[in-house]
Amino acid sequence: MERYQVIIVGGGPVGVALAVDLAQRGVEVLVLERHREVGRIPKGQNLMHRSLEHFAAWGCVDELRSARLLPPGYPIGGITGYRNLAGEHWYLPEGLAGAGAYFSEANERLPQYRTEEVLRVRLGQLRSATLRFGVTVTAVEQDAEGTRVRFVTDEVPDREEVLAADYVVGCDGARSLVREQSGVSRRSRDLDQKMVLAVFSSPELHEWLARFPERTTYRVLDPAHAGVWLFFGRVRLGETWFFHGPVPRETTAEDTGTILELMHAAAGVDFACEFEHIGFWELRIDVATEYRRGRVFIAGDACHSHPPYGGLGLNTGLEDVRNLGWKLWAALGGFGGDRLLDSYSAERQPIFEQTGEQVIAAWVDDDAAFLARYSPERDPEEFALAWGARTGGEMAPSWYEPHYDASSIVVGGGGVTGIRGEHQFTARAGHHLAPCQLSSGKDLFAELGDGFALLAFDASEAAAVIASAAAATGVPLVVVEDSYADDRLRYGARLVLVRPDHFVAWRGDAPPEAPEGLLRAVTGR
Ligand SMILES: Cc1cc2nc3c(=O)[nH]c(=O)nc-3n(C[C@H](O)[C@H](O)[C@H](O)COP(=O)(O)OP(=O)(O)OC[C@H]3O[C@@H](n4cnc5c(N)ncnc54)[C@H](O)[C@@H]3O)c2cc1C
Repeated sequence: MERYQVIIVGGGPVGVALAVDLAQRGVEVLVLERHREVGRIPKGQNLMHRSLEHFAAWGCVDELRSARLLPPGYPIGGITGYRNLAGEHWYLPEGLAGAGAYFSEANERLPQYRTEEVLRVRLGQLRSATLRFGVTVTAVEQDAEGTRVRFVTDEVPDREEVLAADYVVGCDGARSLVREQSGVSRRSRDLDQKMVLAVFSSPELHEWLARFPERTTYRVLDPAHAGVWLFFGRVRLGETWFFHGPVPRETTAEDTGTILELMHAAAGVDFACEFEHIGFWELRIDVATEYRRGRVFIAGDACHSHPPYGGLGLNTGLEDVRNLGWKLWAALGGFGGDRLLDSYSAERQPIFEQTGEQVIAAWVDDDAAFLARYSPERDPEEFALAWGARTGGEMAPSWYEPHYDASSIVVGGGGVTGIRGEHQFTARAGHHLAPCQLSSGKDLFAELGDGFALLAFDASEAAAVIASAAAATGVPLVVVEDSYADDRLRYGARLVLVRPDHFVAWRGDAPPEAPEGLLRAVTGR
């Protein structure tokens, strides 16, 4: 039976990104994807700064930026309006966009199908990866020795074939077969609301929204819809848009009149438009209770699916990839233990669980409470005051700082793994490493390599001790030496051990008492 190191079920953005992450490290990986074409709906547009760091690590950040449809530098962000986009009450929340200085890449906005095309081209450049289309996986089995993946092809739909792998990752979306067959359950919050997604062209809407500063999205809070958002987003400047809004359950794609009426009410003006696509989705939040079962993992929407509020779906899925990719590589390469593989679920699951509750559901609840409590008709002064104090937008809030403080594979972290935090330049175990410029003028992130990196600022002797422990324990490590001055002082430590996903594993000013123990701990052995 043909055998791979990793088989990925599902060649959406998360599956292909994971294949890139693995194949760049030389892992033999096969992606099995049912569809031959990438879906053309302009979803998954909002890529956060951190996601762009991933694309830099995957060697295709310039290609990604060139694939955008909006002009370079077009202001990404949203306007929030009360009742519609014609009124006097609106604001411009900054949200997470203000945290840009803590990342080495700027954010970007482009339809997911363009992102997927970039990833597929990148994957095609990597020798140890294979992407097969027209393949539907029907079953995944595992035992102590490995896994077997059963599938049928478009060419021979009535004959099941089977392949083997050391590990399987289900990147097969919200209805994940891999998750179901692994017996992983989900926790859900169903807001019991059908939503429309309309894609349309309308130069008139572009002209109407010129009353606001230029932005990419326009969100409406209408008391008639409680906390459920109505929002427009740009796809092509001046032409194409998408719209999300709540519709009665019986609405179908043929009910263009009802949908147009809702769009006009949200815009506060009637405008001409031509529909390109009408689809529907459910306002519910689902999160898998665990992301690993033995040799089988899940990532992306297979783990977490939710409304597109905050653009957290694809971004969270890509972070799953960065977290899991190096751990599988380490396990296959013999320098990662089982505890390292366990840490994937331990680190990533709480992040989405909290994102679902404290960001996405909280938005809906808080907006509903605000709309019920304040009204410009009832008490204009009180309303104006409360509206003026609002900061929430359609981007994640500025305190959104996912971290793995409580992880068993970081040394010296704090008490809890979670999403609430503060962006800082200080290097903190369990937190994302902020960027810095080296004295050579180079960007530090470009020097970090595929494995662990030790930043050593005026600490050559200590670095040599840790480097020899890395050699003894088989941990791939590059040492980046520089002076402890300028930007580097902001890290607040002479020694920073950085994981392959650019989170801090450990920091100090002198080598640890047991350097080999440190390296075993951060690789789950
Ligand atoms: C309207 C909308 C707007 C959104 N906006 C944003 C946004 O602004 N920002 C953001 O971050 N996210 C956004 N998202 C979410 C984002 O689109 C998803 O999080 C993303 O698509 C998840 O990628 P994935 O690869 O995990 O899953 P998917 O994209 O669902 O891919 C799964 C793949 O697996 C394949 N597959 C499934 N089962 C099998 C099988 N048995 N055998 C073989 N192949 C299989 C499918 O064909 C598919 O290609 C939005 C989503 C929607 C619906």
